Order: sequence, then C-alpha cells, then structure tokens
Amino acid sequence: MKPELESNPKDYPENTKIKPLFKRKLFSKISIGTVFSLLFINQVLFLIQPFSSDFIFSSYTQGYFRLTTLIERIVFSIFTFSIGDLLYIFLFLVIILHFFKIIIKLFRRDFSIVKFIIVDFLAILALVWLLLGTQWNWNYMQPTIAEKLHLNTEKYDIEELAAFTKDLIIKTSITQENSNFSVFYNNSSSILDISPLGYKEMAKKDDFFVYNYPSIKYSIFSDLLKYVGVSGYYNPFTAEAQITLGIPIKQMPFVINHEIAHQLGIASEAEANFIGYIASINNPLSTIQYSGHLNLLMYCLSDLRKNKYENYKEITSTIPKAVKNDINEIVNFWESYRNDYRRYSDKGYDMFLKSNQQKDGLNSYNKVVSLAIFYYRTN
Ligand SMILES: [Zn+2]
Repeated sequence: MKPELESNPKDYPENTKIKPLFKRKLFSKISIGTVFSLLFINQVLFLIQPFSSDFIFSSYTQGYFRLTTLIERIVFSIFTFSIGDLLYIFLFLVIILHFFKIIIKLFRRDFSIVKFIIVDFLAILALVWLLLGTQWNWNYMQPTIAEKLHLNTEKYDIEELAAFTKDLIIKTSITQENSNFSVFYNNSSSILDISPLGYKEMAKKDDFFVYNYPSIKYSIFSDLLKYVGVSGYYNPFTAEAQITLGIPIKQMPFVINHEIAHQLGIASEAEANFIGYIASINNPLSTIQYSGHLNLLMYCLSDLRKNKYENYKEITSTIPKAVKNDINEIVNFWESYRNDYRRYSDKGYDMFLKSNQQKDGLNSYNKVVSLAIFYYRTN
C-alpha cells in the first residue's frame, strides 16, 4: 500500500490540466441537450412529414439549405483542393487522439478523467451530428421528384422497359458518333467546368436547377474510393461535390451532374442519378449527352438481365461496337477494383434487396430506370 500514490478524484481539477469542472458540466449538458432536442425535432418532423413535405421543401431545401450551401460554395470554391477531405482527416485524427487518451488513462487507472474525455468526445460527435442534421438530413423529407415533376408513375411491364431500352440505344448511338472525349484527356479540370452546363438549360424552365458558384473537386481519397466502389460523393459539411479522380472518363460527366444534384438538395441516390442523367442530356455538347445516355443504358440493361428478359440477347445485338467497348471499359474498370470486402458488401446488399422485394410487378433494381421511364412518358 502506497498512500502517497492513491489519488483523490476531488483533487483532479487542480492537479491536472483538465478544464474547470463547471465548464465540463456545462459542456456535457449542452451536448446531451443538443442530441435530445435533435432527436425530438427529427421525430416530430418524420411524424408530420406527409403533411409538411411541401413546407420542408420550400423553407428548408429551397430556403435555409439553398442559402447556406451557396455561401459555403462561394467560400470553399476559392480553394482548388478539397477542404472537406481535410476536415475528415482532422476529424479522424481527433477520434484517434481521444481513443489513445482513453487507453492511456485507463491504463493509469485515472477513471474520473476518462469520464471527462468521453464527454468531450460525445460533445464533438453531437456537434458533427447537429451539422449533418441541419446541413443535409432534412432534405430526405421533401416531396419525391416524381411528385414535384408530376410524373405518371403507373407501373410498367417488361415490354415497356424493353421498348424504352431500344429507344435509348438509338439515342446513345447518335450521341456516341458525335462525341469527342479527347479534349478532356490533357485537361482534367475542364470536364469539371463543362459537365454542369446542362443545369443552365434546365434552370430556364425551373428555378430549382439554378446552379451558381460551382464547387466541384477531385477527392484527396480518390485511390481509396475506387477500392470501395465510390465514384463521387457530396460533403455535407462544406457543400463540395467530390469526384473520384481516375474513374472512366465516359462516366465522369454523369457522376459530376449526380453530385451537383446533391448540392441542390436532392437527397435520394436514385433521384440524384435521374437528375444527373437529365442534366447530362441537356448539355449542349454531344460528348456530355452521351455520358448520360450511356450510364442510363447500363442501368436499363442490368434491369432487363435481372428480370430475365427473354429477348435480352436480341436487344444487346443492336448496340454499336463503340458503345459496347465503352460499357466493357467501365465494367472492367470497376471489376479490377473488386476485392473481398466488396464481394461481402454486395452480397449483403443483394440479401437486403431480396428481403425488401416487391411481390408483384416488375422488379426495379435501379430506381433511376423507373424515373426515366416515367419522365419520358410524361414529357
Ligand atoms: Zn450520390
């Protein structure tokens, strides 16, 4: 027994470098309060969502979200590199630091300090969650794009999907013949400037698509993203559109326009794909239009195949060789990055899809296909 080494927890505030106790208590109360009020607000918003989605769209998506992300884009577009990625690195280091602090203090049996470090850590998580909630999550509660564009969402059968795909093959072929990607080969930033031009066309008909002060950047984590199968992402903390550098160039304009859709407040992935497609085909350049058609065609072919369409081979035989080569290039690219982790996550996703499968009608594996069919039906 060595009494001089026994510590009295009450002595900690004086003996160590930790912040005064009352500040700690205030800190923990604020973080706990933040978490519970956000949980409460989210719960209320979800409950009233069927009645409030229009209000959320006009006040949040087109109001608060639109304004704050515009300011973020103006500020962060000054930097050519991704500020959001640096923020993630910083956040990662903070988590690691707190983790090691806890381990060391546990090792030294300083249990009362561990409590404080955990409170600090939870406060940081609460702040991150607060930002995520207010800067992104409520976009999920706006009306669907089908409701907003008054699309005819009646069910379709496999023959309608096949007819749609045949038509799409023609559009893909025409734009492919007039495309020229070589202009982008030596200048990887020009594709970031040219791809969004379709939004200017769309904004003439609908204010929602006004996209000023672009903030589109290649991600610092591009190498890592390719291995997890991610072609781009939206950073809700800095409103930057992040593109994975080195993905097939014929996929890139479609991906850029997908991420811009997120910047405008489109939360759902299928809807961002759909808006990404529409923005690509509204671009004045055939090259960008081709990227849109080609990517949608790949989704349609995958839907036909998964639904075991009997004339699948007949349809694919009408695809020109140049288009087939581009499809193969994209498929082979992502296949080359496939690894054991991806195989497991795909299997999990497959099981998830099966558990949620609709019993009747056609299985739409790619919701973007349904939205595109509804769109062409209506327009
Ligand atoms: Zn997305």
